[in-house]
Amino acid sequence: MVAKMKLLITGGAGFIGSNFARLVIGGSLSGFSSVTILDKLTYAGTMSNLESLPDDSFNFIHGDICDEILVTRLINKHDVIINFAAESHVDRSIKNAKDFVLTNVVGTQTLLDAFKSKANGIFLQVSTDEVYGSISKGSWVESEPLLPNSPYAASKASGDLIARSYNRTYGLDIRVTRSSNNYGTHQFPEKLIPLFITNLMQGLKVPIYGDGKNVRDWLHVEDHCRGIYAVLTGGEAGEIYNIGGGTELTNLDLTRYIVNSMGRDFSDIEFVADRLGHDLRYAIDWSKIRTNLGYAPKIDFNAGLDATIQWYKENESWWFPLKN
Ligand code: NAD
Repeated sequence: MVAKMKLLITGGAGFIGSNFARLVIGGSLSGFSSVTILDKLTYAGTMSNLESLPDDSFNFIHGDICDEILVTRLINKHDVIINFAAESHVDRSIKNAKDFVLTNVVGTQTLLDAFKSKANGIFLQVSTDEVYGSISKGSWVESEPLLPNSPYAASKASGDLIARSYNRTYGLDIRVTRSSNNYGTHQFPEKLIPLFITNLMQGLKVPIYGDGKNVRDWLHVEDHCRGIYAVLTGGEAGEIYNIGGGTELTNLDLTRYIVNSMGRDFSDIEFVADRLGHDLRYAIDWSKIRTNLGYAPKIDFNAGLDATIQWYKENESWWFPLKN
């Protein structure tokens, strides 16, 4: 139950956290008595992600999840903590992994220590399907050992396992979710879908890594948020839940769809040197959350992607300053 619980969202000025905040404050995900957002406002976090929300509908704290004093004070005042805060871009982690370890590992551990001193409430660690590594056939279940390949995925796997260990060691109510690739509004324009949409709007080509045969499962961000909510309201302490059920596509097929939808053609695609250590395919088995918690994604991929393209067309004033 989350009725009348005070919610703390870390990383709430980023893509998924701000979508989660909008759904809570808009009433689609109900039951919280207050919302606090803690965000460091790195290059990926922006107050413009929150500007559609009334000023008095949430408290905003500008700060770092590695700040022990700050997070201890905040966690003590809240009942539900969802940790979205992260360095999240694989390419940046390949260039320099330090901030990934600091935020995704040390930051998560700092939050968990603060949660340990409070000793009640729910802590939900938002993790990713990338922790499992690549799979050529079939799909990973939650009990699969983790074999992350990029520094980003390895730092997320570390945070994810430390979170689980605080449940096993201290008996705290900690839950972990591992979602597939998200798409939707307010995603920073360095990530594949918004990068490609905005490049096409700017008359630029879209760069596909390698041969474009890498496969990802694409889940609308609002479906991911509904999955997180299902885990908060119906999930169990110490459990891990895969959140999938999007649409599996090669990067090339996804790009063709975007290019065609925007009235462009194959000549706008350019193949570039592959990402180092590029995982070929991610796929998760999400039958646990479907069977135990009745979760199912609601947003059809084509409709969701068309609406996302339309949002970027209508919100150049949001993405242009971030991209430049
Ligand atoms: P994002 O990069 O858009 O947002 C991250 C937010 O965290 C930003 O607002 C940033 O300012 C903030 N932040 C970074 N370091 C911080 C720190 N030390 N202290 C406080 N705030 C800090 O990322 P996103 O795509 O919204 O991802 C959110 C979470 O979901 C991440 O944990 C990510 O690993 C996970 N996830 C993302 C996807 C996806 O497809 N985007 C899929 C599965 C899981």
